[in-house]
Amino acid sequence: MKVRWYKECLRKRALHLYAQRNGRDFPSRKNSMITNTGHKTDDILASNATIGTAMLEKRRQMTQQQAYHAGKLGRADLHMHSTYSDGIGTIQQVLNYAQERTNLDVIALTDHDVIEGSLRARDLWAKGKYRFDFIVGEEVSTKSGHLLALFIEKRIPPHLSMEESIDLIHAQGGLAVVAHPLNQIFRHSCPRRVLDRIKASESVWLDGIETWNASFCGIYANRVAMQSNREQYGWPELGNSDAHTLSAIGSGCTWFAGQTALEVRGAIEKGETAPGGRMWGMHDYLRLAGHHLGKQSQRVVNIERMARERRGRRERVA
Ligand SMILES: [Zn+2]
Ligand SMILES: [Zn+2]
Repeated sequence: MKVRWYKECLRKRALHLYAQRNGRDFPSRKNSMITNTGHKTDDILASNATIGTAMLEKRRQMTQQQAYHAGKLGRADLHMHSTYSDGIGTIQQVLNYAQERTNLDVIALTDHDVIEGSLRARDLWAKGKYRFDFIVGEEVSTKSGHLLALFIEKRIPPHLSMEESIDLIHAQGGLAVVAHPLNQIFRHSCPRRVLDRIKASESVWLDGIETWNASFCGIYANRVAMQSNREQYGWPELGNSDAHTLSAIGSGCTWFAGQTALEVRGAIEKGETAPGGRMWGMHDYLRLAGHHLGKQSQRVVNIERMARERRGRRERVA
């Protein structure tokens, strides 16, 4: 009861702050919403599925057609990277790509353990005329794996426990979403014992779980995460691209009813979102590998140049 009251207080504060900051009321573009067509879902309802995933099988994402039938026409991609961490695109390129090459309604920039790029991207976004909404975010490296912090204003420091990080996000009125969990190979993936601990906790809660991650982190693990969530945890589900290249932006998406950042927030809080999308294409992997190889060879060139200069200096002294 106390937790619910606290959550509601944080939610009201965040909505107020957001409306003030963006000069918009909530919701701002609701009139294009299509309401539920009465699709029959009861017969395939998983025991712990949220409303957003209730029409889906235990290990399936939502297709565009299912989204249409469920009245969830909004598409959000709330997990992507820029050059402020290990992404290839600059913040301006990310904004341009989302504008010109995708039909996303909302994006969040979530660089690893930094918020500066996301804050600057919001400034650029606010000055421009973009048709999508923007959410400031960060992908926090906790001791138990990666955690998405959405709707935050201050950086969450890395290397804290999952619970401490979640608390810091909530203290800012943000949403805490566990990223690509239950991948047994990837060391930055939250393990089951930590998810179980949070589920059992009276005072700490997750606002959502990424059950569709379009990167290598989601290979096989997406199916495990979906099944575990629908059978056991029942948290609101998100689908995201985890894009490190421009072309991967929008590959994963979260379906929701509405079009704005606050509507996707509301949908997450009510458990009405559903994950969807496709996995990264081969060209996304190749471009990323090429970028890192290029950086690597540049580093070798720099080391060789420094060694040559040092040798030259020593010879001159001798
Ligand atoms: Zn991650
Ligand atoms: Zn990521």
